[in-house]
Amino acid sequence: MLINRTKFLSLTLLLAGAALAGCGGGDDKAAAPKADTMAEKAAAVADDAAATVADTAEAAKDTAGAMADDAAEAAGDMADAAKEAAGDMMGEASDAAAEMKDKAAGAAHDMGEMAEDAMADAKEAVAGAAAPADDNDPCTLNVLAGDNIAYSTNALSVPSSCSNVTVTLTHTGKLPKIAMGHNWVLMPESAVEEVAMAGMGAGADANYIPADEARIVAATDLVGGGESSSATFALGDLKDGETYVYVCTFPGHWSIMKGTFTIS
Ligand code: ZN
Repeated sequence: MLINRTKFLSLTLLLAGAALAGCGGGDDKAAAPKADTMAEKAAAVADDAAATVADTAEAAKDTAGAMADDAAEAAGDMADAAKEAAGDMMGEASDAAAEMKDKAAGAAHDMGEMAEDAMADAKEAVAGAAAPADDNDPCTLNVLAGDNIAYSTNALSVPSSCSNVTVTLTHTGKLPKIAMGHNWVLMPESAVEEVAMAGMGAGADANYIPADEARIVAATDLVGGGESSSATFALGDLKDGETYVYVCTFPGHWSIMKGTFTIS
């Protein structure tokens, strides 16, 4: 602004000087009053110019001031906006973090529950597997058979603490025992084939069980669909070191309906 004002003044003085010089020629006496007039005019022009410059400077100052204010205001707005944006971002980040924390906690909780459920299921499964067929008594066992040549289990076990063991065979099918009869006969594995053959000879009236008390430890009656029969024996009747099995001696069944009986 100072530069502009200086330039303007210089130009004005130059113009004023030029006016004086232009009137300097000719008679000195005649020229003197003219020169005074010209000087006055030049001074007036200079005053006007100075006033204009001052006005211009003032206007420029106002403009500059306004611009500075605008700039300051804009800068302030930008700072506020930046601050707000930063605040929002921090808020969002905080929210996101909180959400993730919640999710993680939820997931951990779910996993914990799943683990608990799995453990509960496992416990139930173990309890179910270990549970004797007859609720509380580990010395009482249930075996099922249906309208096909198969027992519901091919392995039975009782604790050595049992003095007596009772096995109940239930036929869950519909066929009569003459067509699809089953029994449960416990004996040493080495006796199976001979006992089964002898049983076939003994016939249905004898439940297909021969008179072989030396090797047959226990035997149920022959059952048909919907029937059941139990056999009870002393665990002490089993010989140490002998492998015991149970079979169905109905003709043709013994090689398939066969399971192991062990003492745990
Ligand atoms: Zn059978």
